[in-house]
Amino acid sequence: MNQMSLRHVILDRDGVLNREADDAGYVREPAQFHWLPGALEGLAMLRRAGIRLSVATNQSGVGRGLMSLEQLAAVHARMQADAAARGGALDAVLFCPHAPGEGCSCRKPAPGLIQAAIARSGIAAGASLVVGDDQRDLEAAWRAGVAAALVRTGKGRETEELARRSGVPAFDDLPQLARAIIAGETAQATSGQR
Ligand SMILES: [Mg+2]
Ligand SMILES: [Zn+2]
Repeated sequence: MNQMSLRHVILDRDGVLNREADDAGYVREPAQFHWLPGALEGLAMLRRAGIRLSVATNQSGVGRGLMSLEQLAAVHARMQADAAARGGALDAVLFCPHAPGEGCSCRKPAPGLIQAAIARSGIAAGASLVVGDDQRDLEAAWRAGVAAALVRTGKGRETEELARRSGVPAFDDLPQLARAIIAGETAQATSGQR
């Protein structure tokens, strides 16, 4: 894809926007949602560049009975309020609430969430970019036919070798990726789709 066509970024949440919860736990309440350094600025940069912002996140804590849908909604309300207050309002927040054993079609690496974000946006898959830190994000992107980029926050460093072998570009964090997109470097940066 060439960078002029990039109009939609589909972001993973934990490890991309906010710090992953300690001890493999879940962010169950707004006070546990801690933005990564620069993430709010990165969202604002992308939005100012006219790029639609979607979030697509696995939240199996719901399906596992560890948190309620109401708790998740409160966390997302806080996330959206913070992002909007800083100029990076989110256009859509999509989540998979299912546990791994439920066999749903939305839990990444299944492509359902990415496909739903594309469908809701009205923007073609070829003009979209999935941003994640985990192998599951990259696989979901490939299965949905969308280019991917890796950030080295969250699980990103563990995923970097896979990304390198797959031609997926890696960035230190969301603001570095946003700067690359805005600088027009994404013609190469997002060519790793396969
Ligand atoms: Mg993640
Ligand atoms: Zn699901």
